[in-house]
Amino acid sequence: MSTQAERTEATRGRLISTARRLFAERGFAAAPDWLRATAQAITSCGCTAGCPSCIQSPKCGSGNHPLDKQGAAQLLACLLRGAAS
Ligand SMILES: [Zn+2]
Repeated sequence: MSTQAERTEATRGRLISTARRLFAERGFAAAPDWLRATAQAITSCGCTAGCPSCIQSPKCGSGNHPLDKQGAAQLLACLLRGAAS
């Protein structure tokens, strides 16, 4: 027989597990839209090699090196082909 504290902890664990699953499912469902928006931002940007408007990140630990704008666009296209199937 379990104690009230054990039952409360088990309920808490189930709630956290459910919340994580729901969060992951929402992210999975939204991913194609996010990938398409990112691909659009990259391909419509007027720069040639990547800039803060498309592929550079202020949080990049390596100072945004190396970057490959064409590679980013190709990777997103590949992911979107996978998302469509
Ligand atoms: Zn750019």
